[in-house]
Amino acid sequence: MAKLYFSYAAMNAGKSTLLLQVAHNYLEREMAVYILNSALDNRFGARKVASRIGIEKEADTFDQESNLRQMIDTQEPKPACVLIDEAHWLTAEQVEQLARAVDELRIPILTYGLRTDFKGELFSGSERLLALADELREIRTVCGCGRKAIMTLRTDGEGNVLADGPQTQIGGNEAYVSVCRNHWQQGIDSGTVSYS
Ligand SMILES: [Zn+2]
Repeated sequence: MAKLYFSYAAMNAGKSTLLLQVAHNYLEREMAVYILNSALDNRFGARKVASRIGIEKEADTFDQESNLRQMIDTQEPKPACVLIDEAHWLTAEQVEQLARAVDELRIPILTYGLRTDFKGELFSGSERLLALADELREIRTVCGCGRKAIMTLRTDGEGNVLADGPQTQIGGNEAYVSVCRNHWQQGIDSGTVSYS
C-alpha cells in the first residue's frame, strides 16, 4: 500500500542527503523517481536538490500555485516514488493533493521538511503533513550542548539571534542554527546562545 511519509527535522540535519539517498536506491533499480523542490530554495541554483555533502540531482519545482496532484499524474513514465524537499513550504491544500495522489494514484510520496520556523511556530505545510501523513519520521541532529536539536534559531551575520522577522527570508546574511528547546528559548530571551 502506498503511503505518505513526512520526515521532519530542524535545520541542517541532512534532510536533502537522505532524500538523495532514497532517489539513488530507486534509480539503481531502474525505477523512475519524481523529485520536487520548493522554488523558494535556490541556495544551490534552481531546479535541483543538493546536499551540503556535495551530491545533487535535478528536480522540478513547486510554488504556492502548483497543482501537485496533477503534476504527479502527468509524469511519464509513472514514477515509482515521489520525493519532495523543503516540504514545509507546501500549502495545506497542496498536502491534501499529495494525500490524494498517494491514495488515488497509489504512488508512495516521501516529504522532507522543517517542523517549525525560527519563532518556534509550525510551518503550514508541516502542520498539514503532521496531520495527514501515514508515517512520521524524525531526523535527528544535535545541539551544541549535546541534547537533541529540535528547534532552529535565525541569526544575523554576527551570530546575534533574530527573534522577529518574516518566515521567508531570502538572500540576506542570516544563518540558521539547530538547537535544543532550552537553548532556543535562551536565544530568543537573551539574543545570544552559550553552551557552557
Ligand atoms: Zn542545547
